[in-house]
Amino acid sequence: MKRPTILVLGAGYGGLATVVKLQKSLGTDEADIVLINKNEYHYESTWLHEAAAGTLTPEQVRYDIKRVINAEKVEFIQAKVEAIDVNEKVVTSSAGTHTYDYLVISLGFEGETFGIPGLDKHALAMANVKAARQIRDHIDYQFATWSLEESKDDSRLTIVVGGAGFTGIEFLGELGNRVPELCKEYDVPFEKVRVVCVEAAPMVLPGFDEELVKYAVGQLESKGIEFSIGTPLVEATEEGVKIKTGEEEFEFIKSRTVVWAAGVRGNRLVESSGIENMRARVKVEKDLRAPGFDDVFVVGDCALMINEEINRPYPPTAQIAMQQGDKCAENIVALLKNQPTSTFVPDLKGSVCSLGGDDAIGVVFDKKLTGTKASFMKKVVDNRSLYMIGGIGLVMKKGKFDFL
Ligand code: FAD
Ligand code: NAD
Repeated sequence: MKRPTILVLGAGYGGLATVVKLQKSLGTDEADIVLINKNEYHYESTWLHEAAAGTLTPEQVRYDIKRVINAEKVEFIQAKVEAIDVNEKVVTSSAGTHTYDYLVISLGFEGETFGIPGLDKHALAMANVKAARQIRDHIDYQFATWSLEESKDDSRLTIVVGGAGFTGIEFLGELGNRVPELCKEYDVPFEKVRVVCVEAAPMVLPGFDEELVKYAVGQLESKGIEFSIGTPLVEATEEGVKIKTGEEEFEFIKSRTVVWAAGVRGNRLVESSGIENMRARVKVEKDLRAPGFDDVFVVGDCALMINEEINRPYPPTAQIAMQQGDKCAENIVALLKNQPTSTFVPDLKGSVCSLGGDDAIGVVFDKKLTGTKASFMKKVVDNRSLYMIGGIGLVMKKGKFDFL
């Protein structure tokens, strides 16, 4: 009898967690597991702010997928997925067409620009490791050019960060540490540099613990970072950004570097897949299947689940993506054995927001943490995710031990 094919799209946290659990749970004769990913490597999306600021190299945030998969059980295809058609049960990629018995969509997030004019063209975003490297190189180039040119264009030394959510704040934390290094490297006076965070909501890290937010803002301001709060960014141009400062009032900030960190959506391929979705996110059933498609699972940032306690979606996080991958594999194995699937219940341990180096804020197991304790927890979380995918070997190779 033909073995069933399990096709997993995307080797991020959700996809790799699925594959790692499947390869542990199934024998070689039980299923053909196929993993398709754009690159031959996985990158840690949760470390992209470090690669973007230049405090980690792109190489440090990625590792070879073949390191963590069992080639006897999993066929890895490096290809770009181009289309998904769940009605015809076919996936098209740059390597050809692929059929499946079970499909796992784990293609991750894309930046959301909300249709704000000029952002697509004039802003950079930490969407993946290549985009993060582009931000680092762009900032380096602006500093180098300012240093070299006769007619000093100070907008080269102004960095605008759009959005003070977790991504924006973590990036600012890294920049706070990186800017003094850049100044030294490129002979730029520190007082010439401006790093401005523009946030639409009335507070930084909307919805997070206010005491911790106050700590974070104080720490970042002490590194010279400015905050413009309650002032949505409404347009980006080649010269900078326009922000709304009042009912009919606007301000223009001249800047050659605009980093957009104001929200994410699911991967656009979901929108044309035939599955009902909202901004490329699928409101999945309790067992993580797509509504109406018993053979399709969606995990990670392409999935949407409502937290019934507060009647709001769970935030798209790596923490949830990995847990979903685990449950998705468990449910596929159950289906292969003609057993019932089970419900995914997130096990949230808290959240930690890095402020760069050995500083952070967080709520872990309902306990508030700041400074080195919070930063230690963040590194433990980072190392834990490496451990869960690639075991101790991967932790030793890629882990963060600078707290030792
Ligand atoms: P991803 O990790 O985005 O992986 C998607 C994979 O699909 C990638 O390998 C990509 O290359 C591949 N892919 C995409 N398109 C294609 C295609 N067309 N063809 C083939 N392959 C494709 N969450 C936390 O829980 N804790 C944190 O500390 C944290 N920090 C973050 C910091 C930053 C700077 C950012 C941006 C996000 C952070 N998050 C954090 C959120 C977290 O990164 C995401 O929720 C998580 O990456 C989602 O996992 P995923 O598996 O759905 O997708
Ligand atoms: P987000 O949606 O959490 O935050 C985006 C921020 O941008 C919000 O504060 C919003 O008010 C602001 N914004 C929106 N439109 C704006 C505009 N026009 N002008 C100015 N500001 C505007 O997005 P994110 O920070 O990218 O996070 C995405 C997901 O990844 C979240 O689920 C987050 O929890 C997760 N994440 C987690 C961590 C962590 O746990 N350490 C780190 C990064 C991201």
